[in-house]
Amino acid sequence: MKTLMKKVTIVSLLILSSVILFSFNKSNENTNFKQDQPTECRYGQCRATAASTGNRCLHCVSNEGDSYCWQHK
Ligand SMILES: [Zn+2]
Repeated sequence: MKTLMKKVTIVSLLILSSVILFSFNKSNENTNFKQDQPTECRYGQCRATAASTGNRCLHCVSNEGDSYCWQHK
């Protein structure tokens, strides 16, 4: 009986964490969508994701037609 309880707890924890992860991804999408709006950049914003924060890189590209800033080339 104790084993069953343990299994049930683990399964509920798994479901709970997937729900949390799912909503987290959703809010991330929204953030990215906002950042896709026109920026101050002359040739557009870097399309890379900053490894430190997980957010989109805020640097501007230096040349027309470039997708990534000097840091993410
Ligand atoms: Zn960048």
